[in-house]
Amino acid sequence: MRDIVVVGAGMAGLSAAETLRAEGYDGRLTLVGAERHLPYSRPPLSKHVLSGKEEPASTALRAEGHYDGLRLDLRIGRRATALDTTARTVTLDDAGKIHYDGLIIATGATPRRLPGTDHLAGVHVLRTLDDCGTLLTELTNGTPRVVVIGAGFIGSEVAASARSRGLDVTVVEAAETPLSRVLDPRIGAACAELHRDNGVGVHLGVGVTGLEGGPRVEAVRLADGTLIPADLVVIGVGVAPETAWLADSGLTIGDGIACDATCAAGPPGVYAAGDLASWPHPGFGRRLRLEHWTNAGEQAAAAARNLLAGPDAALPYAPVPYFWSDQYEVKIQLVGLAAPADTVAFVHGSPEERRFTAFIGHQGRLVGVLGMRSAAKVMRYRALVAEPTSWADALAAARG
Ligand SMILES: Cc1cc2nc3c(=O)[nH]c(=O)nc-3n(C[C@H](O)[C@H](O)[C@H](O)COP(=O)(O)OP(=O)(O)OC[C@H]3O[C@@H](n4cnc5c(N)ncnc54)[C@H](O)[C@@H]3O)c2cc1C
Repeated sequence: MRDIVVVGAGMAGLSAAETLRAEGYDGRLTLVGAERHLPYSRPPLSKHVLSGKEEPASTALRAEGHYDGLRLDLRIGRRATALDTTARTVTLDDAGKIHYDGLIIATGATPRRLPGTDHLAGVHVLRTLDDCGTLLTELTNGTPRVVVIGAGFIGSEVAASARSRGLDVTVVEAAETPLSRVLDPRIGAACAELHRDNGVGVHLGVGVTGLEGGPRVEAVRLADGTLIPADLVVIGVGVAPETAWLADSGLTIGDGIACDATCAAGPPGVYAAGDLASWPHPGFGRRLRLEHWTNAGEQAAAAARNLLAGPDAALPYAPVPYFWSDQYEVKIQLVGLAAPADTVAFVHGSPEERRFTAFIGHQGRLVGVLGMRSAAKVMRYRALVAEPTSWADALAAARG
């Protein structure tokens, strides 16, 4: 293999490139990234950068000199527009084509927007460093009234950061409890109360019907007729895997790129990793697509090793997933998996105390541990999720 191309210069793309070199790959290595920045860390954007604790530049993942050491053909500010798996080429937005023997696709995800709101100034999403810069400028310009649409993790972190600046903040969530797509309603309710504890207005179970104003946003209109004044609106209604450029590639795309257990995407030499890759997790026995920072790095490293090993020696990718969120000095962590219909047992603390460790069970097995302000306990129980452990044995371990 003499030509490997990595498309997407986020955490997954960087990890793939670093792993390839660490494993001894000595051929040409091209890293293509649509943003005009070298790889940086997204998690601090909604936490430390928006709250003013960290400078945007501190999010760089590596010092500039590091990239010389990787001997990369670095195409930063260049977008891949098409993939031809027969000719084995990636087409770029300058019409150039790059040949590959091996390809790792790591183009991440893109935030969803609200239809019909693009024309209004003061309406933002948060995914990139540039998004963060624009939002920061507006947050620090006077005392804007902020409305966050969507009480998912990123929306909630944005609300917490804006509130830490003393701003008037309101969160609107269409579901009856935050995070209802992934969590038990009691945990979601605790997340909603965390906002209220900190002086943030919360509207639950009511959708947004429109944004008022022009050219700048002035208010958010809810389905029950409520009009919330707003100088600044942040939309946090989730992301979609960034697969549009692969539409004619022949890859199987549903909820992201459908890979096999080794992260192979189908055509010879093509792998995918990070937010846009779904794969059947051999340990949990179900197909997953994770939007987790740790997974992006780990999955890309696994994909890179499997690409070098070849299909016959490739190993299944079977991590213990890990996710965290920081809101109002409170850390929420999840090891393993969680779904709204899973069984939940609060084994330490309670949602009312805003401090708890919850076991999450699926079909008689412990599949996840979720903690609020309980970092040490969550990490202690990680081994039970990895093992695997029956629901009864897990509860007995917690009692012991
Ligand atoms: C504000 C924020 C806070 C977060 N906080 C947490 C947290 O606390 N905990 C946690 O676990 N996770 C968190 N996440 C999620 C985590 O950042 C993602 O899971 C992770 O960034 C995914 O990495 P990735 O490399 O797969 O994708 P990305 O980080 O999206 O990187 C993909 C890169 O590919 C580029 N690209 C896209 N299309 C093309 C193309 N056609 N050609 C070339 N390049 C392209 C994109 O511009 C991007 O730079 C957060 C995310 C955000 C946005």
